[in-house]
This record gives sequence, C-alpha cells and structure tokens, in this order.
Amino acid sequence: MIISMRPHATREEVEHVTERIQEFGFKVHSIAGEERVVIGVVGVGGDVTACLESLEATPGVEKAVRISAPYKFVSKEFRKERTTIRVGRAEIGGDRFVTMAGPCSVESEKQIMETAEAVASAGAQILRGGAFKPRTSPYDFQGMEEEGLKLLAKARNATGLAVITEVMSDRDVDLVAEYADIMQIGARNMQNFALLKALGRCGRPVLLKRGLSSTIKELLMSAEYVVGGGNPQVMLCERGIRTFETATRNTCDISAIPVLNEMTHLPVIIDPSHATGKRSLVPAIAKAGVAVGADGMIVEVHPRPEKAVSDGAQSLTIEGFRDMMRQLKGYMALWQQERAAEFVVA
Ligand code: PEP
Ligand code: MN
Repeated sequence: MIISMRPHATREEVEHVTERIQEFGFKVHSIAGEERVVIGVVGVGGDVTACLESLEATPGVEKAVRISAPYKFVSKEFRKERTTIRVGRAEIGGDRFVTMAGPCSVESEKQIMETAEAVASAGAQILRGGAFKPRTSPYDFQGMEEEGLKLLAKARNATGLAVITEVMSDRDVDLVAEYADIMQIGARNMQNFALLKALGRCGRPVLLKRGLSSTIKELLMSAEYVVGGGNPQVMLCERGIRTFETATRNTCDISAIPVLNEMTHLPVIIDPSHATGKRSLVPAIAKAGVAVGADGMIVEVHPRPEKAVSDGAQSLTIEGFRDMMRQLKGYMALWQQERAAEFVVA
C-alpha cells in the first residue's frame, strides 16, 4: 500500500497515520516527497482492505492505494517523478545524459591516471574502474583491492571526476564506501541478498547491474531490497543478457530501457561494453541507449586495450572514446530537448 498525504499535512497527522498502519499489523517506511509526504506500507498478515478504508477516512490523507506490483518503492505507482542522484558534478536522472568511463580493472597508477584525464577531457563525468573483480576463472586477475581503491581516489582528486567501482561482498561495503561515490553491483551479484541488504544501509548511491539470466521483474525486486532497506539512491543497468546468440558476448536487451522507464522512477544506465563484448559495436549500442532514453552509460576505455588484464576486446581506446563522444553529440542534443520538454509538461 501507498499512502499519499495532503500537500500540507501536519506532522501530527503523519504520526497518527503511521500509528494506524501499525495497529493494522503493517510496517511503515516514510518518504518525504518535495510537496507531500508519501508513506509506503509493507508487511503481511494485516487486512489490506480494512486498512485502506480506514486510512482514506483519516485526517490529512489524500489517497490510499494498493500497489499490486511486488516491488513497491521502486514502482512508478509509488513515485511519478524521476529519481535524480547527485554525484560530484553529475546529476543522474536529470537534464543531462551522464557518461561513466574507464577501464574494466584498475591496473596501475599510470593506467588509471592516464585514462581518467583522457575521459574527463572527452566529456565523461564519472570514472569507472574495478578494484574487486568478479572473474569466471579463479586463475584470472582478481583486482588490486584496496590499493586499487586508493588509486581511484587519487584519480578523482586529480580530475574532479566522481568514482564508480564494484563491491562484491557485504563484508567489503564499508571499505568500498570510503572511496567510492557510486557502489557498483555486478551482474553476478544482482541477487546477493546479504549484499543488497548491506547497501540499503550504506548511504552511497548504487548502480545495480542486471543479472546474466535475470528478468526485469527480478532486477526490480533486487532494487527493492536496497530502496526498501533505506537507500533510495539506486540506478539500474542493462548490460546484456545471456541468449542463444554467440555473435556478441551478451545480447543487449535494448527494450529493457523503455520498459524500465515505464515501470520505475529509478534512473537507467546502458553498458554497451559488456552488452556486446566487441569494441567495434560499442558506439552503435551507446547511440541506441541515448535514443531510447537511458539516463547515462557506463563504458570501458583503456589506453592500451591489447595489454588490458580484463575485457580488452570490448574496451575502447582513448581515441575511440573521443570519437564516440563526438558521434554522440547530436544524439545527446536531441535527448536533452526531449528531457526539457518532459520537465515542462510535468
Ligand atoms: C564490469 O563492469 O567490469 C563487470 C564485471 O560487469 P558485469 O557485472 O556487468 O559483468
Ligand atoms: Mn569489464
């Protein structure tokens, strides 16, 4: 259930509604919206119909509705306006398409500094780089861990870029949160529920990647763990799913972006690198992402992709990234016009 309070409902009225909800045996999450307080109600066991009827008649309540979707806080029914997330000088979900770029893995100071400076000057707002790497083989490079996080922080200081990096375990959440501006949850961890619960309490924005074989509904349920757990700053990422097709590393489900835009208020990010696995295909899928209304992209860039310890084949060179950003200019201008029109209508 979602309870919308009247625009200027008093604190006492909100408290009274909260008590009534608890008397019915439900749990309350309260989110103070810009103009009005909206209360999310969760839990099982209570009588939903009786509770809704009672609340409709309670002072200060404008509307009480049953939300049929199993994901509530992330649903459009709960919040009509887009969620915007401010990180450094970027606003994700706002009126500018956001670019996150950098290597798959942090490998050395020289590599990350060189990449950070290059992507910043080509128009990225956020630096990506994995310090904890989820690898299919236990014999592959596993990441520089805390040393890698320190290098990311150094690159942030040098360039002003915000930093996104992956956290793989609930045990590492506090450590990664010390260095990262955005906590990346990899595709393989989309349903690591202990990790999702810890992220609900971490106070940092989260980028949640869609699992290799996960449905959109499952992605939203995972996001619900984080948002319902107390952290509303979540963005979702389409990074390709596993299908029978072998011409690309994964199959980019481009329709996931407009589908998510219909179902949720959370920002949506396209990852054209993992979605294709092939450098030559990255610009086309990035363009597609901008065209269908993603809020941003996360893309792999390496100064010497042939020497990369991970994902070299899908990493753009610095020149390739610059070129793609030039190609995207016109697409981004159209994107901005469309967003501006949306804000006027809303
Ligand atoms: C990555 O971003 O380098 C990564 C490991 O991505 P994914 O979790 O989507 O495979
Ligand atoms: Mn990668």
